[in-house]
Amino acid sequence: MTKGSLAFKPMTAYLKKMSILIIPFNNTYTKLPEHFFSRQAPTPVTEPLTIAWNTSLASSLNIRGENVDVFSGNIIPDGAEPIAQLYCGHQFGSFNPQLGDGRAILLGEVIGQNGKRHDIQLKGSGPTKYSRMGDGRAWLGPVLREYLISEAMHKLRIPTTRALAAVGTGELVYREQGGLPGAILTRTASSHLRVGTFQVFAHRGDTEALQVLTDYAISRHYPQANDPMEFLSAVCSAHVELVTSWMSVGFIHGVMNTDNCTISGETIDYGPCAFMDAYDEMRVFSSIDKTGRYAYGNQSRITIWNMAQLATAIIQLYDDKEAALEQATAIIHTLPDKIQSAWLRRFSAKIGISDTQPEDRDLIEELLRLMEADGVDFTNIFHALKDDQASKLFKDRDGFGIWKKKWSLRKGSDAEAIMTLANPQIIPRNHQIEAMINAALAGDMKPFENLQEALSSPFNLPEDLNYLCREPKNTEIISATFCGT
Ligand code: AMP
Ligand code: MG
Repeated sequence: MTKGSLAFKPMTAYLKKMSILIIPFNNTYTKLPEHFFSRQAPTPVTEPLTIAWNTSLASSLNIRGENVDVFSGNIIPDGAEPIAQLYCGHQFGSFNPQLGDGRAILLGEVIGQNGKRHDIQLKGSGPTKYSRMGDGRAWLGPVLREYLISEAMHKLRIPTTRALAAVGTGELVYREQGGLPGAILTRTASSHLRVGTFQVFAHRGDTEALQVLTDYAISRHYPQANDPMEFLSAVCSAHVELVTSWMSVGFIHGVMNTDNCTISGETIDYGPCAFMDAYDEMRVFSSIDKTGRYAYGNQSRITIWNMAQLATAIIQLYDDKEAALEQATAIIHTLPDKIQSAWLRRFSAKIGISDTQPEDRDLIEELLRLMEADGVDFTNIFHALKDDQASKLFKDRDGFGIWKKKWSLRKGSDAEAIMTLANPQIIPRNHQIEAMINAALAGDMKPFENLQEALSSPFNLPEDLNYLCREPKNTEIISATFCGT
């Protein structure tokens, strides 16, 4: 890859090279059997440049200092054991037996200040054994996108992988649009185990590996689970919370393939994701989701489908497959009710109700129908409701008036406080993310910094950043997203 004229050169002055870096690696994945991964060093880049560095995340992970040569993959720090992890998965419902980290390299693990283990992974750091035809690289746009959105998710209190660093490579990456500035994201996660990690060994009939993996996942994520079925149940519970938390902020993941479905229950893979502006139950952004499989309102069904794929793998651990199938089926069959009640709890809070009753579902669904019919903004409506300003957002004022009367009779005196806690003022809106990327491509990092600041306080936004809450004008709407390759 050649260094090109489009190589990214941000104008911000704070970017500086520092060479002292201590990452207290404490690796466990590399102690697993060698066929769980392949050892792979990152491919060096020409001109590494720090674009963003997450100081508070670094210190929470006991990382000291900063070194762009490490986060560009040019230097392998002491204690790192770089590997690409093996997995497979169902992509849009079709099984693909051979995936793996095609453009991500796990440097190793650290124990954070919370006592928990975290992976540190470079994404876009060159090809691996699992790259297939890909170049192993990423360009600046998706890297900045993932940096901002994953950190925003964390501040929205939604379990997620996080962004530690974004660095430019000084090299061009070639995509449909032409040559684009290359970048690498350093991603952290409580692990990168996926449903697809279980599927790969189940598919190969490698029960021994599947057992080792299950024991590892239990001790790393669910030490309270006494057996694989309790483990399955715990993963299911984590995903019930995850998918309903997405829905409560209007998040559409966009590519809920089983290789993008973590065992920890953290959101992973910010490729074609988006937050919706106007409420639309079947909203799709991803340009490759032609059938709407991963539409907003399908996400809970897909979670159940993904958990069923994990169950299918887990069953293989048992000698008595029929009994295991029965047990796993019973666990999966609890999910629709669990999702319904988690959804109801979260959406009740959005309209200020904490002592949720089953009848509240009708009230919430009626509001959502009114919002959908009039294309009302999914984020701003709840603040307008709280401030008694919502009526003007509806064309069907009579319909809204009838709903409001029912709501007034139902909500209590603590409604405003509950709504303030449950409803973010700001989400990463698509048009702002696009504008941020275009500015960054032109060397202007100010929009990135402004968005980063605003998204770090979604429930308590400083007043001078209120302008970032505005929904897009018709001319600003970005209606499609693309996979971040
Ligand atoms: P994703 O859509 O990001 O979940 O990626 C699906 C699979 O393709 C994963 O195994 C990725 O590691 C791999 N992949 C995506 N983009 C690239 C790339 N540019 N180079 C190599 N592998 C890639
Ligand atoms: Mg992925």
